[in-house]
Amino acid sequence: MPDPILMCAVCQRPVERWTATEYPAQQARIFTAYCHGEKDTCRLTMWDMVHVRDAIRSGQRVEAVAFAKQALPAAPLPETRSENTGGRGAS
Ligand SMILES: [Zn+2]
Repeated sequence: MPDPILMCAVCQRPVERWTATEYPAQQARIFTAYCHGEKDTCRLTMWDMVHVRDAIRSGQRVEAVAFAKQALPAAPLPETRSENTGGRGAS
């Protein structure tokens, strides 16, 4: 079974190391990612894995994101960009 590339949401690059453990009873695979001195786990069901396998077979680059919960949220764009032109009608 091909594996997705595990990206670190904090470092913005593939994680340093990861392991995967099969849980046949749960029909799932648990990925444990180790990066920047921390570890994160994510669970993929067999259905997810089938999707990943098909995508990789069709030549797509499949990425899973670890540590997403710890990633700093992107700064919100300022909603009000006041471009006051002085009310000059360009008619
Ligand atoms: Zn990292």
